[in-house]
Amino acid sequence: MQDIKITYSEDLNGNLVHIDSAIKGSRYICPTCRKIMSVRISRLQIGEKYFRRPHYAHQKNSNCSPETVLHNLFKTKVAEYIQTKIDNKNNINFSWDCEYCKDTHSGNLIKKINSVKLEYYLGECTPDIALFDKDNNIIAVIEVVVTHKPEEKTLLYYKEHNIILIQIDLASFDDIDNLEVRLLKPNIVTLCVNPKCTKCGCPKLKLELNIISANCYRCHKEMKVASIYNSRYEIGHVYPESFLPSELELARQSGVIIKQSYSKTKHKSYNANVCPHCNAFIGSYFLFEDYIVPSVYGDYDHVTLNAGYTCLCDRDFT
Ligand SMILES: [Zn+2]
Ligand SMILES: [Zn+2]
Ligand SMILES: [Zn+2]
Ligand SMILES: [Zn+2]
Repeated sequence: MQDIKITYSEDLNGNLVHIDSAIKGSRYICPTCRKIMSVRISRLQIGEKYFRRPHYAHQKNSNCSPETVLHNLFKTKVAEYIQTKIDNKNNINFSWDCEYCKDTHSGNLIKKINSVKLEYYLGECTPDIALFDKDNNIIAVIEVVVTHKPEEKTLLYYKEHNIILIQIDLASFDDIDNLEVRLLKPNIVTLCVNPKCTKCGCPKLKLELNIISANCYRCHKEMKVASIYNSRYEIGHVYPESFLPSELELARQSGVIIKQSYSKTKHKSYNANVCPHCNAFIGSYFLFEDYIVPSVYGDYDHVTLNAGYTCLCDRDFT
């Protein structure tokens, strides 16, 4: 963490004053520790050696750190911002990169939220901001991270109690000026909005079927091959041997020939892409090396079809 410079303090009337509006000789106090701050405005110009951005500074031997001031100020202002939006019946349309399904989701942050509380004690932990529904159930928490990420036991508590964690990582006081931007695209949101699997309860994954227009490795005539990719799968690619019936159907409708074929290396029969001209059978290794990789590099055209939502537990990877 680089040296954080404080750019906000309060005047004696309790108004926050940005350093650019500060008047030398006036008195300003730290919004966190309530002690007098000094105004540091460099006489040097930007770019000159020893130039430092104008900032407020604590007196010597203060034990109040700029990180703490940033953390407190940001969370207070975010809570105020959210409460104002609730009071005015506005939406807060935010979006996030889902860690579970790897898609980007979006939604109204305060759709079900009725009230906001700072530092709400939950026994195991005290989230920076807690968001409650109209029945006073805690729905989500916002953790503002300057130096300390939430502890493992805190994350576990949220998970076990179905509390959505929204994490915003801060780097400097510029984040105060960009509060709305930071809130509308948090660093982490532990919510996947995909439909849930009725068997295992996990969110399903939205998959795309790739149909690659290629040439048969054996007869070199045109053929189509099918595969599925989703970064959520550890193996990344799903080959016809693990396709669901609906995916086999979709591939066949697109002109792909998929047949049960016997593999001498695997000592079993399984579904694979087959050349319509010479009946050559493409096992998963060659499907990847000779068809998927070239299509990624643009050597082969491919189209992607929506294969719908499916769950990991639906699929047989053996
Ligand atoms: Zn302070
Ligand atoms: Zn998701
Ligand atoms: Zn499932
Ligand atoms: Zn062929």
